[in-house]
Amino acid sequence: MAKYTESKCRLCRREGAKLFLKGERCFKGSCAFEKRPVAPGQHGMARKKVSEYGLQLREKQKCKRIYGVLESQFRKYYEKADRMKGITGENMLSLLERRLDNVIFRMGIGSSRSQARQLVTHGHFTVNGKNVNIASYNVRVGDVIAVKENKRGNKYFEEIKTMKIGAMPKWLEFNPETLEGKILALPTREDIDVTIKEHMIVELYSK
Ligand code: SF4
Repeated sequence: MAKYTESKCRLCRREGAKLFLKGERCFKGSCAFEKRPVAPGQHGMARKKVSEYGLQLREKQKCKRIYGVLESQFRKYYEKADRMKGITGENMLSLLERRLDNVIFRMGIGSSRSQARQLVTHGHFTVNGKNVNIASYNVRVGDVIAVKENKRGNKYFEEIKTMKIGAMPKWLEFNPETLEGKILALPTREDIDVTIKEHMIVELYSK
């Protein structure tokens, strides 16, 4: 499976924003963007005038990097969103949120989307009782997501069982004691806390 190989913190510096790609570290003083909030490379400090196209492009890159999706797959999300009823940009974000790796992250089982993706691809979960190891699996309302029976004794999941669940988006439910969660609704724009101007991505692709 193709993936980004560039340092995650470099991606934040490139986009000029914290993308929260490294779990707990992103909330500590060791965050590389907080220490050095300029673009990487020799000319990172240089001020550049950015065109409208450049701004749209950066917004798309930022969104792709937050969800860890490569260009061809990202474009498919846009095309699918464009065929759906409603606002294309919001549909696109909703589809990205419904990826299984994102859902595992949102439930608090993974500390970052990349860690959640690894847990999914290593085959730790079932959806409605069936094994699913596809990170891009698109969840639906009513889906029950659970840690596989034979993985529940792992040290990692034993710790999750005792974890205090923080604020969770209202479209999701997760019970750490049973290691089971449910999709209660489809995510709407107000449920999605990413600071993306999705209309700029739509403008870019509609050219
Ligand atoms: Fe980005 Fe997190 Fe690295 Fe900070 S620690 S630069 S938010 S990935």
